[in-house]
Amino acid sequence: MTLSVTALTDNAPDYIRAIAPYQPGKPISELAREMGLNEADIVKLASNENPLGMGPKAQEAAENAVYELGRYPDGNGFVLKNALVEHYGVVLNQIVLGNGSNDILELVARAFLAPGASAVYSQYAFSVYPLATQGAGAQGIEVPALNYGHDLEAMKAAIRPDTRVVFIANPNNPTGTFIDGKTLEAFIAAVPAHVLVVLDEAYTEYLPPDVRYNAIGWLQRYPNLLISRTFSKAYGLAGLRVGFALCSAEVADLLNRVRQPFNVNSIALAAAAASLNDAEFLQRSYALNQLGLQQLSLGLSTLGLEFIPSRGNFILFKVANAAKVNQELLKRGVIIRPVAGYGLPDWLRVSAGLANENARFLSALNEVLGEIA
Ligand SMILES: *Cc1c(COP(=O)(O)O)cnc(C)c1O
Repeated sequence: MTLSVTALTDNAPDYIRAIAPYQPGKPISELAREMGLNEADIVKLASNENPLGMGPKAQEAAENAVYELGRYPDGNGFVLKNALVEHYGVVLNQIVLGNGSNDILELVARAFLAPGASAVYSQYAFSVYPLATQGAGAQGIEVPALNYGHDLEAMKAAIRPDTRVVFIANPNNPTGTFIDGKTLEAFIAAVPAHVLVVLDEAYTEYLPPDVRYNAIGWLQRYPNLLISRTFSKAYGLAGLRVGFALCSAEVADLLNRVRQPFNVNSIALAAAAASLNDAEFLQRSYALNQLGLQQLSLGLSTLGLEFIPSRGNFILFKVANAAKVNQELLKRGVIIRPVAGYGLPDWLRVSAGLANENARFLSALNEVLGEIA
């Protein structure tokens, strides 16, 4: 007798079986194996990582934390939370720590979404919003984008009585679009009190001073606001997986009930706390990113390619035959990100790297476009 595994898998809820898996950037080691390339010759500009890696203070803290790995991490994250209190002027019970900010998004879905509920997000917004929504069995309401960014008026209008969460990424990934603080706050003020606004600020450290806004100051006024931040991007700790939410104490309490007791590992807790005190590294990361965006914009313009001006650490550009171009870049050891899964089959996303990495990408792209034409 053959046991049929589908008898088992068919029992998983329909909404789980219908999930389209997240498509991550290709790891360097994988491309090296596939193409027979040397890892050292590969440039990865696919996952919006900090090209400087982690900062020196974070690294030192991470190395020291290795000696305590026989013990469970502090499930309350006391040291990191206190560093966040100090840094952002929030109250301890307004913080929830996550295994990356992706975890925060999942906790929100777990706590607020369920079959019969809905979540609103924009077309071309971060793909984890539909994933987390669907994983909870809730209905996703995708609102058509306006100029590749969030159409806040339409999103407001899309909120239904069964809507529990609205997701906003600012700046947005993968488009790099940005909503100014005034417009954003007006939107939050207009969202009904029964709906949680998740403001995902994964790239906020990359905003130039003249467009920065302080959403943390809004928390007092809007108890239905949750701000999500990460150490994966400007802080350079993507591999450690640590992010956090700032929200009302009542919302934090709910998220903490569904959170795994030890969701953030001890190396991540230590490195993240130390990185908050490394203003020099953050400034260096910001400045390098500004240069990288300039270099990439200029290079893409020179190649005659359309791109969306970005407030993140990446640029979305349009190119005929995007899948083929991506494949040809891979052959040349350059990994960037196809975004067909976002409904953007004619676009590719490139992260801002070191000057030599950006140059390598631009010259490979130039070569590929010449060959394909
Ligand atoms: C990268 C990213 C995140 C999550 O990153 P984590 O590594 O899970 O913290 C969240 N939101 C957006 C918009 C991102 O681009």
